Amino acid sequence: MTEERRGKRPLFSVAVPFYNEQENLRALYERLCRVVGGVENCDFELLFVDDGSTDASLEIVRALAAQDARVRYLSFSRNFGKEIALSAAIDHARGDGAIFMDADLQHPPELIPKLIEGWFEGYDDVYAQRRTRGGESAFKKLTAKLYYHVLARSTRIPIQMDAGDFRLLSARALAVLRRMPEHQRNMKSLYSWIGFRKKAVPVDQEPRLHGASKFGFFRLLNLALDGITSFTTAPLRLATILGALSAAVALLSFCWFLIRTAVWGNPVPGYPSLFCGILFFGGVQLLGLGVIGEYLGRVFMETKGRPLYVIAESNVTDETPDETLP
Ligand code: UDP
Ligand code: MG
Repeated sequence: MTEERRGKRPLFSVAVPFYNEQENLRALYERLCRVVGGVENCDFELLFVDDGSTDASLEIVRALAAQDARVRYLSFSRNFGKEIALSAAIDHARGDGAIFMDADLQHPPELIPKLIEGWFEGYDDVYAQRRTRGGESAFKKLTAKLYYHVLARSTRIPIQMDAGDFRLLSARALAVLRRMPEHQRNMKSLYSWIGFRKKAVPVDQEPRLHGASKFGFFRLLNLALDGITSFTTAPLRLATILGALSAAVALLSFCWFLIRTAVWGNPVPGYPSLFCGILFFGGVQLLGLGVIGEYLGRVFMETKGRPLYVIAESNVTDETPDETLP
């Protein structure tokens, strides 16, 4: 809790990253207002982060801000991706806790009082745990499950299963996240990494209200790779083990061929085994190189030291936009 707010009613920031959600924003705002209006003894701010929308979303949020002083917004100069938009929300949330949710109403705002209850119980991370995943294909559900199991097995840090971005974080959890400057971000991994006391609140995820999901197969695959490589160097270790194993296999088969030729002679030329060997080791080497490349690429991206995002417009009073036009 910040110094000047001590002893006052707690303030919660409801942070919503959005990208081209013009059909959903008003409905979301209305449902949010209804829900937060029913929460007693708490204040709210609604923090909208426009991730470079190209439709009328920003105009809608501007209009909401003009009619409701609780609405704060910032708008990126282009689309930076949801993970970066969430990071901007973390940087600018002023509350004693911040609730993060999607703009497409897949995350029912009606759960907010339950999340706040967890905050009052002293939890730093109260996350919505999906009992069901409405509006998602069987393939997405399966790959998501697989990913979380791989992630959980590759690290000692406990991973929260079926947890999404719908959650409440305490002020101190937000403060820790603000100190994590990495560019290749997978927020779900970061939430796990920071630790603190976590509480799961079950939720039935609803289907998207309007429009289609922005996360296709390849974008999810990228996100998953970011999640694993930003979390653990286990794939590098795996490449080393695989290399050692295949070298051992090569050595053993070399001995075998040597003995076999010495004892029985060599009636059949060894083309097939040679061919298989070359293919196998070529593959293993490429795999190892690829894994190293993944990490090296990430090191390269981090060394550039660029800002995470560029704000083009904002009504966040304590912050001037990055690019002030003359
Ligand atoms: N989103 C964003 N930037 C992007 C893509 C998506 O801020 O580049 C927002 C989007 O507007 C929504 C949330 O992230 O509020 C979740 O996106 P979506 O519903 O497309 O993903 P899914 O629910 O299918 O995982
Ligand atoms: Mg969605």
